[in-house]
Amino acid sequence: MKRLSNWPRWSWVEAAKVSTVAQALATAQSRGVDRLDAQLLLLHVLGKPAHDRAWLLAHDTDALPPAGQAAMDVCVQRRAAGVPLPYITGHKEFFGLDLQVDARVLVPRPDTETLVEWALEVLAELPGAAVIDLGTGSGAIALALKTTRPDLQLTAVDASADALQVAQANARRLQLPVEFMQGSWLTDVSGRYHAIVSNPPYVAAADPHLDALTHEPLQALASGDDGLDDIRQIVSQAQAHLSPGGWLLLEHGYDQAAAVRALLLDAGFENVQSRQDLNGIERCSGGRAPAA
Ligand code: GLN
Repeated sequence: MKRLSNWPRWSWVEAAKVSTVAQALATAQSRGVDRLDAQLLLLHVLGKPAHDRAWLLAHDTDALPPAGQAAMDVCVQRRAAGVPLPYITGHKEFFGLDLQVDARVLVPRPDTETLVEWALEVLAELPGAAVIDLGTGSGAIALALKTTRPDLQLTAVDASADALQVAQANARRLQLPVEFMQGSWLTDVSGRYHAIVSNPPYVAAADPHLDALTHEPLQALASGDDGLDDIRQIVSQAQAHLSPGGWLLLEHGYDQAAAVRALLLDAGFENVQSRQDLNGIERCSGGRAPAA
């Protein structure tokens, strides 16, 4: 009769609410959280790794501890209100790395892995090359490059001191040495790089798509009337910071590839081309600074 010692905190009303793993998942779904998210939230509150969904199936009749149930309620409420799952669990996987994220940074998207893969291709024959990631956010691109190619010299820039704290914490935790700098694009950067990579804000300020992204930093998403203000600035600054033959690689919106290629050609870039994301959408465009 150990529970009686909790009296009167432990009332029969609360006892009646005790639910099993399976019931907690069903409740989450009835509140509008999809099945996978409900599973990931429950693993998170139970302190289990995200890959352990099999545990939930094997333990579907286990009762949840009251604290776990209360924590699950809060998580479900936040998720149903549209808070991105990674802000609730505090983690997002990107390019095989476990990144810690919160509302100070954009949630890394799988689409951005296209940019990382392209950068790895253009850097393949350049041991020790210097690379700069503009608008690093959580550090996703810079850290993905550094973990794959420890020989690269990575610099990562962000205008947001808050974002830099998140990125620096990720670099420390993952033990990936990257040099961090606060600044607006290349304005405060000196020196030249073999590659400049960036996933800048690129959504048009009036795009209704932004309504679905209100939990993420607007500064990381919106970029003027046509969504191209930041890309225009980066393109105009880039050649002065590229080695001869160095590459500028940019992520952009689903309908901006032709416009970004035109900006690159206008600025004198060569080998201008685009790459598709996992959905077959032209998601990145880039070009090469002229050889010396
Ligand atoms: N890919 C994001 C989205 O449309 C936008 C990211 C960005 O602006 N860099 O949801």
